[in-house]
This record gives sequence, structure tokens and C-alpha cells, in this order.
Amino acid sequence: MELDRVIVSEDEIKARVAELGAQITRDYAGKELFVVCILKGASIFMADLVRQIKIPVQIDFMSLSSYGKSTQTSGVVRMLRDLDQEIAGKDVLVVEDIIDTGLTLSYLKENLLARKPASLRFCTFLDKPSRRKVAFQPDYSGMAIEDYFVVGYGLDYQEKYRELPFIGVVKSVD
Ligand code: 5GP
Repeated sequence: MELDRVIVSEDEIKARVAELGAQITRDYAGKELFVVCILKGASIFMADLVRQIKIPVQIDFMSLSSYGKSTQTSGVVRMLRDLDQEIAGKDVLVVEDIIDTGLTLSYLKENLLARKPASLRFCTFLDKPSRRKVAFQPDYSGMAIEDYFVVGYGLDYQEKYRELPFIGVVKSVD
């Protein structure tokens, strides 16, 4: 497995994260935000994003996993790690790396709504709308991409490449 090409450069990522941060800052003016980071992929995006959000933020982490092969989504979602804190009455923003079939965030939406947050929105850096198995529309999206398997900026292939400062397409995956 090798890297084929870069599809989103480090400069493009930086500019888009700044825009998202500004938009979120405007939308939540006068409020406090409870950010839920989906491990591990969204950790790098979340760390950049919260530094572009100019209102008070709390951060918590959740880890979800779908059964199945490494580059395919099977549709069965497991919660590997839950939040430390309660979210009832809070303005919650879930931060995700990429939306593919939509199954992970559809599951999570139901799970989190049951905890009665004041509001619940979803922010993803990448979106592959052509791959949806269930309807899911993020409230904030960095950019839509074609149906490529991508790595970098938090996204892995077999736990590798998360540290790349850009988003690239891999040559061949099993
Ligand atoms: P969904 O439930 O929307 O199909 O799955 C979303 C999850 O699948 C993401 O959080 C990510 O872990 C994984 N995923 C989907 N597409 C890609 C991709 O192109 N590259 C990588 N590295 N992971 C992906």
C-alpha cells in the first residue's frame, strides 16, 4: 500500500478549518459548547478546530467501532468508550473525521438524543455523500470528496498515516 496522491493540502485544510471555526463561533455566540470528539480519527481535526472556536468549549471523547473489514463499513456499531460527562441540557457538537455510509453517526445521533442535550449538531471534516446507506446530513462539513479511501489528518489505514498533515488517496487497499 502506497500513497497515490494528495487530494487536500495542508494549506487547504488550515483555511477550511478556520472557516468552520468562524462559522461555529457565530452560530453559538453567547453560548458554551460541549465538543464530542470521535476517536481516533477526529482527534487531529478536533484539536485544530477548537482553537478556531472563540467561545468557551469543553471537550470529551467517545470511541466507536464498526465490525467488519478494515476499509469497509459493516453497519454494526459498537461503543468502545463512552463520554466521561453527562450532556443533558448542553449544546453538543460532535466532531468526526469523515462520513461514509452514515451508519456510525445515525447510531450516535439516536444514542446522544436519548441523553437530552439542549442541542445536538454534527461537524465532519470530510464527507462522501455518494456512499450513504442511510440518510445523514452533517450540520458542518469541511468538504465533500469522491469515493476514495483516504488517509492522513487523523485518518488511518491499519493504524498508519494518521500523522500526515494532508489528506491523500492510497493506491490499493484489500
Ligand atoms: P460510516 O459509518 O459513515 O460509514 O463510517 C465512518 C467511519 O468509517 C469513519 O469515522 C472512518 O473511521 C471510516 N472511514 C470511512 N471512509 C474512510 C476513508 O476513506 N478513510 C479512512 N481512513 N477511514 C474511513
